[in-house]
Amino acid sequence: MSLNGKVALVTGGAQGIGRAVVQSLLQSSAKVAMVDLNKDLGEECKAQLDAEFGEGNCTFIECDVANGDALRDTFQNTVDQFGHLDIVINNAGITNEKDWEKTIQVNLTSVIKGTYLALEHMSKENGKQGGTIINVSSMAAFMHSPHQPVYTATKHGVIGFTRAMADAAIQGDYGVRIHALCPAFVDTPLLQSVEDEDNMGKFVKFKDDFKRSMSKFGVLQPSLIAEGMMRLITDTSLHGAVMKITCSKGIHFHTYEPMSA
Ligand code: NAD
Repeated sequence: MSLNGKVALVTGGAQGIGRAVVQSLLQSSAKVAMVDLNKDLGEECKAQLDAEFGEGNCTFIECDVANGDALRDTFQNTVDQFGHLDIVINNAGITNEKDWEKTIQVNLTSVIKGTYLALEHMSKENGKQGGTIINVSSMAAFMHSPHQPVYTATKHGVIGFTRAMADAAIQGDYGVRIHALCPAFVDTPLLQSVEDEDNMGKFVKFKDDFKRSMSKFGVLQPSLIAEGMMRLITDTSLHGAVMKITCSKGIHFHTYEPMSA
């Protein structure tokens, strides 16, 4: 499906899963703001994407999503450059159990902030045209991970926040579809960081357990995660979806029992 005329903002877009979805969005003719902390990587990535898709379709914005003011400016900058906003993918994430407060800030607080900023620019409540938000969680939200307790907590938090906001969007008639995406292990540089004491602190001793899980469950390619994201963006029947992507079942959805008293 063509996304011609649509504008997307992807955090953590210069590498790994974010990079793969930036590529898919450009292939579908969307304009894309690729937001990332890593300036060198972002500029290199933009040059490659300009060569492939032509200049003017992708912009790189250097931003630490944990800096609320900078994130606000980044959203405004995107709208100033491309005129409006239709798709926001809150994807930037880290795994750092040593600096666990930073992990909460990047993986959860910034996703909340990114969702609120997206709504400021897209919600019908604010006189805008509607859109789609995807918040990146993880299969860690459905499993116990001895090596990543705070990472796991943040990914649980992303699902809870996203589902509640999806309900708010429906009841408040925001015209914005809000989803959570939960990939299993994906072949990106983030996977290497879990073997590093600087990132994992005392939990690094559980790295063999982590590697065993990886060989048991397998490792996905970022392109499949991008495919899942594109389905969430283009299938307008989906709202408040919790998409899971695993090696054994591919792209599928988590279902919840209806609440009973
Ligand atoms: P990655 O480390 O390969 O890429 C993350 C990108 O985010 C990098 O370009 C990095 O520079 C950027 N980034 C990090 N902190 C940032 C910040 N504060 N501000 C702006 N940009 C920042 O990681 P990935 O594997 O592509 O992960 C993307 C998302 O997917 C994360 O939320 C991660 O938790 C989630 N996820 C990853 C896996 C996996 O196995 N790789 C599995 C499930 C979920």
